[in-house]
Amino acid sequence: MIKLKDLTKKYISDEVETTAVNQINLEVKEGEFIAIMGPSGCGKSSLLNILGLLDSPNEGEYWFDNIEVATFSEKKRSKIRKGNVGFIFQSFNLIDELKVYENVELPLLYQKMPKEERKRRVEAVLEQMNIAHRSNHFPSQLSGGQQQRVAIARALVINPKLILADEPTGNLDSKNGEEVMELLSDLNNKGTTIVMVTHSNYDANYAHRIINLLDGKIITENIKEEHVA
Ligand code: ADP
Ligand code: ADP
Repeated sequence: MIKLKDLTKKYISDEVETTAVNQINLEVKEGEFIAIMGPSGCGKSSLLNILGLLDSPNEGEYWFDNIEVATFSEKKRSKIRKGNVGFIFQSFNLIDELKVYENVELPLLYQKMPKEERKRRVEAVLEQMNIAHRSNHFPSQLSGGQQQRVAIARALVINPKLILADEPTGNLDSKNGEEVMELLSDLNNKGTTIVMVTHSNYDANYAHRIINLLDGKIITENIKEEHVA
């Protein structure tokens, strides 16, 4: 599903060049659950932004579903992104002015999906995330755990092939964090590929494979025993 070949991302600001991702080679198979770990500044966000087609690399190849997307324009990236990739963030990133239902409906509005089908899909994912009873509330009226369940519903509503999660439990207490991880794990068991950035060893334990980054490079890779081929 994903193949990176010598992928490199550099930033230049104030004439200082930073190599955030340094010749990374990585393959993610359909249905895998990967955790990316490493200290602050090691390139996790930069890598996730490229995987999610939000940003493009300077060098190397990125194969997404057998299409080489590394040199795609923002317009072409956005087309693939909007149909295939769901994002979950530490800070939930819900729109405060929109109700729960409307937040989850938004990606389908971008896809210009007809109203009846939108309704069916939104109601189904809200049920699935056990938050349907809060459809008409605003995000500020919900707990952190509930807000993250809404954010997962929003990621899911497009039926993504890939879910990218950036510290999904970072703002949650351990009980809500565990609930979110169980939900992600269920989704993965039903076939959705997940790549998650985390600082938590506990959360990383849900993954099949843990990739440790340092200075933009993969330094170690641990495969959980039950997933060794
Ligand atoms: P985290 O990955 O821990 O959520 P951030 O993505 O906010 O944190 O930032 C990670 C690192 O990248 C920080 O050291 C931050 O200073 C740096 N960074 C993020 N955006 C920029 C930018 N636009 N210019 C320079 N440095 C940046
Ligand atoms: P992490 O997510 O692991 O904290 P990042 O990918 O955010 O790491 O950052 C990797 C490196 O790239 C850091 O040195 C950071 O300061 C730098 N960086 C990140 N974003 C930018 C940016 N937009 N402009 C300049 N430097 C950046």
